[in-house]
Amino acid sequence: MSEKSGIVILGIFAADTAYKAKRLPHIAETLMGSGFTLGPGGKGSNQAIAAAKAGGKVTFISRVGNDPFGEMALAAYAAAGVKANVMKMDGVSSGAAFIFVDEVTGDNAIIVAPGAAGLIGIEDVDANRAEIESAAIFMTQLEQPLEAAIHGLSMAKRAGATTIFNPAPARAIPDNIYGLCDFIVPNEVEAAELVGHAIATDEEVRAAGRTLLDRGAGAVIITLGARGAFYHTAGQSEFVPAFSAGDVVDTTGAGDAFLGGFATAISEGQEPIEALRFGCATAAIAVTRPGTAPAMPSRAEISALLG
Ligand code: ADP
Repeated sequence: MSEKSGIVILGIFAADTAYKAKRLPHIAETLMGSGFTLGPGGKGSNQAIAAAKAGGKVTFISRVGNDPFGEMALAAYAAAGVKANVMKMDGVSSGAAFIFVDEVTGDNAIIVAPGAAGLIGIEDVDANRAEIESAAIFMTQLEQPLEAAIHGLSMAKRAGATTIFNPAPARAIPDNIYGLCDFIVPNEVEAAELVGHAIATDEEVRAAGRTLLDRGAGAVIITLGARGAFYHTAGQSEFVPAFSAGDVVDTTGAGDAFLGGFATAISEGQEPIEALRFGCATAAIAVTRPGTAPAMPSRAEISALLG
């Protein structure tokens, strides 16, 4: 193991508030629902909790409002052992996602109000320079403003950290970001958005891997849901099957579980393919439980599944 082992994650927190009903409401209609859940969400936040529960030494950089959702976030980080370099802001809400779920079809409609997390900027990266420059791993996504992600990746890369970029949610990104990524980790939808063609067959997955590598990424991982994940770098190209850890209950946050597990394994000096298996095992357990952050498994559970 290298002497650097810290994982620094930049991203957003959003409280997930989910409302279930027999159908989605129409405009101006009030509908009686059948269930409500509240839990911590946001890709970066979920990844930080997943990595810490998997055994990583994690710092999370973000912003929340001075409100009950912000308190929920900070309590979740304390419980998971995440160091929270999280700015608490007055006069703006914490990020919140308002999720309607049709309990018959499973369809949903979502409004995400990023609130304080939408104000994350390059100054949040600069304020954490010492931590980022001494980290083994820097990981980020696309839910906070793009310039903060690019600034963080650049700073980490210059300092010699391993950079992991999860280009989620799907959107176009500038070409100069690829060279900042030791690992770029999209799911199928995000990879399709980046390469401009469908990702269904194995050959399409391989082609996407080649395209993203040619653009300058050090290695490409495309997560493929229940099919597992694909690893591609110069000289190595491999499909890794998903694990099964029981009945699948809720696949929301599977990608975040994968990334948290993967980052922890890389921070310990595991080879990328081993780290990828570790990420798949982490996610396989998370999908057997409801919710996102609360579904993330412990190190002991991951080790037991890996055997
Ligand atoms: P996202 O949540 O971003 O859409 P994926 O659906 O690709 O990401 O899932 C990420 C990883 O989670 C996959 O690579 C796989 O290892 C694991 N995973 C997802 N769905 C399942 C499943 N049904 N059974 C086992 N593992 C799963």
